Amino acid sequence: MIQEGSGIGERVWGSDPILQGLDLVRAFGDGGSLSRAVDEVSLEVHRGQFVLMMGPSGSGKSTLLAMLSGLLRPDEGRVICMGEDIWSLNDKEREQFRLDHCGFVFQGYNLFPSLTAREQIELVARWGQGATASEARDMTDVLLERLNLIDRAHLRPAQLSGGEKQRVAIGRALIKAPDILFADEPTSALDWAHGEEVVKMLRQLSKDNGTTVVCVTHDHRLVPFADRLVDLEDGRLKRQSYGFHGVTGPSGHPTHEPGEINPAIPAKPTLRYRATP
Ligand code: ADP
Ligand code: MG
Repeated sequence: MIQEGSGIGERVWGSDPILQGLDLVRAFGDGGSLSRAVDEVSLEVHRGQFVLMMGPSGSGKSTLLAMLSGLLRPDEGRVICMGEDIWSLNDKEREQFRLDHCGFVFQGYNLFPSLTAREQIELVARWGQGATASEARDMTDVLLERLNLIDRAHLRPAQLSGGEKQRVAIGRALIKAPDILFADEPTSALDWAHGEEVVKMLRQLSKDNGTTVVCVTHDHRLVPFADRLVDLEDGRLKRQSYGFHGVTGPSGHPTHEPGEINPAIPAKPTLRYRATP
């Protein structure tokens, strides 16, 4: 089922991709030793999908993710995210776009050592989202509950396990209800019990909130949780499976049709970021 539009303004998402990479190229090195980490890759991601980008170490996954998420400028090609050609924006506009629409989760958690789990998340609600102190507390409570962290909320990163730290990082990314969550190897520093917990939670939260997730991993154990797989090899797209192609949810059943959009998800109308000329 393709949902035509989501009822807000004139915006019709339909099956339009929320994120598109077009002929992306990025090389590293210089002169004779210039080599393409990402070599003419095009792909599209649809709203609400949980997409896994897989491939062996060095295949260009992180480079591709960084270009798609506005962190690394491509040498060639374009990225269209929610209708914006993000690499044609200036740095300030792109930063604002990322703040408004994108969340990030990295292998290394990137938490503040001196803040408690609760404070890491509240800080974003407070200063990123402009919530009042009591709003931020309430929003954070809801998320801590859903992340099974409420009993650990008063602890600092050094007192938390790897899985707990990653859940805090996910909470921090999700508190601002991003349209797209980018994750680079979110489970690779974790043993599988914690890794599985993290990926299950990521999937559940993304389904509940309608967040599109683009997750890079070389861990095949994440495959059953994905709606879609993108395979990279030597910087090139080896295979891109649309829809399920045999990929099922943890229950063993596909959780939704390819391109399907949960009608319960309010689509944020696209804001224009380009400075008016
Ligand atoms: P993956 O995430 O799949 O392990 P990366 O995107 O990190 O792969 O790297 C792809 C290729 O690009 C590798 O050969 C890597 O050495 C090279 N590369 C990535 N980032 C840099 C960089 N900042 N400087 C030089 N080479 C880089
Ligand atoms: Mg990488």
